[in-house]
Amino acid sequence: MFEGGRLLEALRVLSNAYGPPAWEEDVVGKLRGMTSEVVERSWRDNLGNLFVKVRSGSGPRVMMVAHMDEVAMIVRHVDDSGFLHIAPLGGLDARVLIGQRVVVHGNGPVEGCIGVKPPHVMTPDEMKVVPNVRELYVDVGASSRDEVRALGIGVGSYVTFPPNFAVTSGTRVVSKALDDRAGCAAAVEVSKELHGLGSAPELYAVFTVQEELGLRGASVIVEQVEPDLAVVLECTVAADVPGTPPQDHVTRLGQGAAIRMMDSTMLTNPKLVRWLTGVAEREGISYQLQVMTGGGTDAGRIHLQRRGVPTVVISTPCRYLHTPNLMLDLRDLEAVVRLTAAAALDAREALKGP
Ligand SMILES: [Zn+2]
Repeated sequence: MFEGGRLLEALRVLSNAYGPPAWEEDVVGKLRGMTSEVVERSWRDNLGNLFVKVRSGSGPRVMMVAHMDEVAMIVRHVDDSGFLHIAPLGGLDARVLIGQRVVVHGNGPVEGCIGVKPPHVMTPDEMKVVPNVRELYVDVGASSRDEVRALGIGVGSYVTFPPNFAVTSGTRVVSKALDDRAGCAAAVEVSKELHGLGSAPELYAVFTVQEELGLRGASVIVEQVEPDLAVVLECTVAADVPGTPPQDHVTRLGQGAAIRMMDSTMLTNPKLVRWLTGVAEREGISYQLQVMTGGGTDAGRIHLQRRGVPTVVISTPCRYLHTPNLMLDLRDLEAVVRLTAAAALDAREALKGP
């Protein structure tokens, strides 16, 4: 059984919090509570990004980054019969939305579901067609526009998946929003581990907004911290499932922290990859290298700021990204924490010339 009780508890609390893009307040509140004992200075910027200065120190300034938002939906129309028509916030596949339970955020959280025509009344042709998210609707049980309004729900209301965190077989967790509350939990844990050390670099944990809409929050964080090294903590694709050949797995659950060499937003400096894999090997931390032609992380914005910011991405492999039921292995998350802490302590080496 997994021993990291504090890390597991942080992951549970953070994953059950609500964080649709641009309304990450619930997650901010949880993170403020979790970091209250390690914070030297903290602020939020005009976009809502949360900055936690964990410690001063000699040597390079290291900035950990994890995004607070999760994929969600927004109400774009309420019809006369009280159905809510929705638009996606982030990359959502209609196939995983159909029939799901959701929470609509009105005066309070309101339970609802994404309706679907039952097979009894579908034509054979209709059964073959995957609808667009814009064709889907949320049913909160109201029968008129006025009933919906009385719940505090209208155009612009957020729709999220309900909290559903569970530990499955021993070391594995299934939940909504693990992308990227796993990164948030890792940043909190590393902050706690390095806060009280006698000698460690200057350290910041930055929790960004609106990553799922195109890395928006991360666009403005570098000028506020001016880091020497950025470490982005993410969740990444683990497609080690039936029907997917090994060359398309990207990463595998239980095989360690994923060190990203490439995605569509950043090609990691090979020198930094060599340094990071060297740290992992020296410390006996299991890791896997990943190359993807699609996808991206906040690193895509961060490394292009100012005169360029040395940036690495360390991820927890995760199945079923952007669904209500993501799955990760806690041993991988623990490897992410250990590797990030070891990397921060070794940051001076990373920044040495070729
Ligand atoms: Zn993410």
